[in-house]
Amino acid sequence: MAILKILTAPNSILTTKAGEVKEINTEVRHLIKDLKETLAVQDEPEGVGIAATQVGKPWRLFLVADEITKAVTVYINPEITYLSKESFEEKHPEEDDQVMEGCLSVPDIYGKVRRSNEVELTYMNEEGQIQEEHATGLRATFIQHEYDHIEGILFTQRVLAEGNDLYRVIGDNWHKLRL
Ligand code: ZN
Repeated sequence: MAILKILTAPNSILTTKAGEVKEINTEVRHLIKDLKETLAVQDEPEGVGIAATQVGKPWRLFLVADEITKAVTVYINPEITYLSKESFEEKHPEEDDQVMEGCLSVPDIYGKVRRSNEVELTYMNEEGQIQEEHATGLRATFIQHEYDHIEGILFTQRVLAEGNDLYRVIGDNWHKLRL
């Protein structure tokens, strides 16, 4: 058991597409256990998800915690099968502060990313069983963020590609980054 060091950008593992998990062996089970512990201790900011690539393992595996219960779902070799056209922001115009995304691998940086309000995916759980999930709202956003990690995409790339601003947050102050 261990708290793993989270890689921060720039790091080529964070921007390289990860490979399939071939077998849920001891090494993979160990990693899952360590990722759970590593995610659980993130409180500044609180972590809602973590991908294997963020701790230097180029595997298609990530975890997402339930916002309320904190129960963690382990997604192995996930495949997204549906993304709604409607975005989180379109569905929840009142929650405009929620569309600011951040990432443990890009500390103190936030920005707005367009995410589908609904996502469907299939994945393998820790027991090797194929599962399906239909997620909505913020959970759908978290899943899309983590899925991007195993595709080697950082949210900051999306912020910039969408023409939005990046902010560095120091205490309560938001500073727009000039790039
Ligand atoms: Zn992230």
